[in-house]
Amino acid sequence: YAAKEESEGYRFFTEEMNQKALERMRLERSLRTALQNNQFIVHYQPLINSQNRILGMEALVRWHHPEYGLINPSRFIPLAEETGAIVSIGKWVLHTACQQTKLWHDMGYANLYVSVNLSTRQFKEPDLIETIEQVLEVTGLPSNCLKLEVTESGIMENPDQAIVTMHYLRAKGIRFSIDDFGTGYSSLSYLKRFPIDTLKIDRSFVMDSIQNKNDQEIIKTIISMARTLNMEAIAEGVETREQHEFLIQQGCQMMQGYYLGLPMPAEQFQERLDIQKTSDLKSAPDN
Ligand code: C2E
Ligand code: MG
Ligand code: MG
Ligand code: MG
Repeated sequence: YAAKEESEGYRFFTEEMNQKALERMRLERSLRTALQNNQFIVHYQPLINSQNRILGMEALVRWHHPEYGLINPSRFIPLAEETGAIVSIGKWVLHTACQQTKLWHDMGYANLYVSVNLSTRQFKEPDLIETIEQVLEVTGLPSNCLKLEVTESGIMENPDQAIVTMHYLRAKGIRFSIDDFGTGYSSLSYLKRFPIDTLKIDRSFVMDSIQNKNDQEIIKTIISMARTLNMEAIAEGVETREQHEFLIQQGCQMMQGYYLGLPMPAEQFQERLDIQKTSDLKSAPDN
């Protein structure tokens, strides 16, 4: 009896595995042609300062799959990393995001910066520097309006190379954020060797910050550490007014999250910018 149950459990398990493997294979196959079929889009999520102004935006890629609809990056970025497709997808995102930002500059939203995620795999590409310089040249976006988001694990995979690459790009004006900060294992004394401008406080700490004293302490520590090291702190995943208030109280300068703005298509982001400009004009003293 037990054996029967076990074998049925086993069959169920393999069937589920089959489903997973099948989906993976289908995704992998369509991922190979997704770029040339124009199936990717970039959404933009506002990066907002403590005075509620949009200073920049994070570029977040989405895949518009002909059968499965809109697919979030968590479902295909790991796959794209494995197959190497992330390299060309990443280039496309970088180019699209820089081009869009330049367009907004030309419309009067000068100084707006864009933050683009760089995967570990992209970081290992020998022509990364060339790619970035080329994108900036072709799009005309000033280098100080581009930030690159890297993860601790991303730079720790080949730290010596990462340090050289980052210092070179930093000297050109490009800035760096450490994404999901606090979830990695790197020591601070080690991180100090990298030219880092921004620490993005991981969403997991912000999520429980109202109930959990430990998370509050971690957030306070990251904010004061950023200040000491002359870096900026951005809190990720701000979802409620309470979290927002807590972060403001702690002196967090920058925030990002559903409470302040969802990731949205460029047209919609532009509406947000227009609204901000209109209210600026209204509150101008000579108006
Ligand atoms: P990430 O870089 O940490 O980006 C932030 C993620 O948190 C985004 O998920 C964003 O939509 C989500 N988020 C923002 N505010 C909130 C909030 O208040 N609550 C919650 N629950 N979530 C929030 P998304 O867009 O699904 O992206 C997931 C991850 O995929 C990103 O995490 C990033 O690691 C990766 N990714 C996205 N676009 C790209 C890309 O162009 N290139 C690479 N290499 N990775 C990317
Ligand atoms: Mg990011
Ligand atoms: Mg992040
Ligand atoms: Mg994150």
